[in-house]
Parts: sequence; C-alpha cells; structure tokens
Amino acid sequence: MGALDFVDEELAALSARRLLRENISLDSSTGPRVVRKGRPLVNFSSNDYLALAGDPRLAEAAASAAKLYGTGAGASRLLGGDLPIHRALEQALAELKGTPAALLFTSGFAANLGTLPALVGEGDAVFSDALNHASLIDGTRLSRAKRFVYRHLDLEDLDRQLAVNPGRRRLILTESLFSMDGDVAPLKDLCDLADRHGAMLMVDEAHATGVYGDGAGLCREFGVSSRVHVQMGTLSKALGAAGGYVAGDRRLIEFLLNRARSYVFSTAPSPPTCGAALEAIRIVRSPEGAERRAALLDRATELQGALLDRRLPVVGGECQVMAVRVPDPSKVLAASEELEARGYLIRAVRPPTVPEGTSRLRLCVSAGHTPADVARLAQALDAVLGSA
Ligand code: PMP
Repeated sequence: MGALDFVDEELAALSARRLLRENISLDSSTGPRVVRKGRPLVNFSSNDYLALAGDPRLAEAAASAAKLYGTGAGASRLLGGDLPIHRALEQALAELKGTPAALLFTSGFAANLGTLPALVGEGDAVFSDALNHASLIDGTRLSRAKRFVYRHLDLEDLDRQLAVNPGRRRLILTESLFSMDGDVAPLKDLCDLADRHGAMLMVDEAHATGVYGDGAGLCREFGVSSRVHVQMGTLSKALGAAGGYVAGDRRLIEFLLNRARSYVFSTAPSPPTCGAALEAIRIVRSPEGAERRAALLDRATELQGALLDRRLPVVGGECQVMAVRVPDPSKVLAASEELEARGYLIRAVRPPTVPEGTSRLRLCVSAGHTPADVARLAQALDAVLGSA
C-alpha cells in the first residue's frame, strides 16, 4: 500500500465511466486549421475566435517585446517586475474596454481567484449563475463568502434569492457569454437587479472580449459598461495571447492591486505575451478587427442554420460557440473520434465540465473558417450523429 494508491483507484474509476481526460496534442500551432498525428484537421475546438494566435504579426510583436524587455519580468509588479509593456497593455485594455483603468493578471483563472476573495469574504454573499466557470466557483470558495447558486440565466430565481439572503457585501456573479451552452446573460436586467438590491455585479467576459461591442465585450454591446462594477476577461481567447484582466474604476483597480493575492504574490506576465496581446488589441480596434468579427459571426449564423436544417440537437448558437447534444459520454467520445477521422477537430465535453447527462460536442467557430468549412462540418455531423 502506497500513500498514492488512491490516485490509481480514482483514475480507474474515471476510466470505467469514460470520463478520463487526456490532452488533445497538436503537431502545429493552433488556428482554424491544425495538424494532429500528422494529419491536417479543420479545427472547431479552439477559443482563438479571431484566428490571431498564429498570426505572424503577434509573433513579431512578441519577439520585439522579448528583445526590448526580456523573456521574464523577474518579480511581481510590486517588487520590481513592473515594466513599461505592462503599463502600456493596461492602458490599451482600459481603452478597449472604455473603462478608466485595468489591471493585468497572469491568466483569467488567476484574475478570478484573486479578485473574488478581495471583493468578498466571511459574512458576505455571492449570487452565482449555476453554469459559471470553475475559476469563478473556486474564487468564490476561496473567499469564504456564502455562495447562493441561481438557476442558469433565471432572473426570477436570482431576485428571490437576493430578497431573502442578506450579507455585509453582496455580489452577483455571471459570465456574459457562457461558453458551454453558447448563450448570453441578460446584462441590463442583471444591472437593474444589482441596483435594486444594492449588490455589486461582476461579469466574466472571457469569451466575449474581442468579439462583441467593437471588441470591448458584451457589457459594451448592451450599453451597460459603466453600470457593471467589475468586468473581468482574458487575453487568451479572441486576443490570441495569454493573461487575464479586470477593467473598471480607478479605485477598484488600486484596491485589487493591494488586495488580490494572485496579483500581489505572482510574477508579472512575461513581456512577449504582453507584446502579442498589445498587437492583438491594435488589430481588434482596427477596421480589420471589425472584418474579422463580421466573418466570425457570419460563419456562426451559417453553422447554426445548417445544424438546425439538419434537425441536429443544437444548444446555444446565439454566438460563436454552440454545441450538439450527445448525452452519453461514450457516444460523445466515439462521435468526436469519428469526426477526427473525417478531418475535424471537435471536442467532446463531458462531466464535470458540464452537468451529468449533458455531454456534448462543443463547436467553436473561427473568423478563419470559410463558408465551405462550416457547410461541410454540418454534413459530417449529420453523417456521424445520424448513425450514432
Ligand atoms: N473564465 C471563463 C468563463 C473561461 O472560460 C476561462 C477559460 N476557460 C477563464 C475564465 C480562464 O481564463 P484563462 O484561460 O485565461 O485562465
């Protein structure tokens, strides 16, 4: 008996339930087209929505930043790692978001893990959408605030829970675009509820940044940017780089700089990553960015239409992310493998990422896909799932 025997047991249990995970390894960079196991695949599995992660201009900007500022920041921002490129990126993020200020974290996950425990603690209450991302759940747990989970996008349930659960500070927590169901939070109504109940509102724009609201996200698209107390997002999806941010009021940013432990006690993001993100923001704010967004949303509409025409069980599709339901974990894995044999990289998403019984094929459209890519994908899905 070894102290690590439980590891074997737990892995065997996951394997028996067809829930064991493994990396999906590529031979190439990511993008709308990738190479895996020596074969070219059309990639519908990446959050690189604007097809910027493999763009040579971002690589060039990363290389220049490395030459100017080195490959590592060497320390946290508060202990000598605060470089000109960090300040430039925060300025660019604040301009993109249309907020007075922004704060950079090493990842979106780190931003949530640091921000939530800074904002709330013991004696406080967090009202959290049932489908919020793991980083929001973990940040809330770390905070020790009481967590009240409301039904996904259900404003009445949220209103009821806000009415009966007091707290020293109260925070409503939601994503703007939910990446597993491809649906969008009613941000204006959430602002109204927050105002009515005297609660803060924090919105995770991970999947909307760069894509909606001229690149600013859905808070801008819905015209509620100045009413959302905390806007958080990531540079790792549509912006093709890495890192997380919080955008908002100057006081909020100064507060987080002092209180968010994942900011205070972590080495500042690496200069090349910041260089790539700066270039991505420049592109996103240029006419080319608008063209990429338009292409992305056109492809998404085409794919949703083609899936519905074929009567496939589509989830979401109000945006660039959608899914086709295949509730059985074994069947969803088999479908993903068969699609790969046909030349598509498509992820099977299973519990615990999504609730039990809701496994699905998750489809992420990219601005780099062609109309033919999405039309052929719908055909392939029909062939594979029709025979499932
Ligand atoms: N929030 C949401 C909603 C996400 O989907 C993700 C990434 N999957 C994150 C936060 C974490 O962002 P990052 O990948 O930059 O750590």
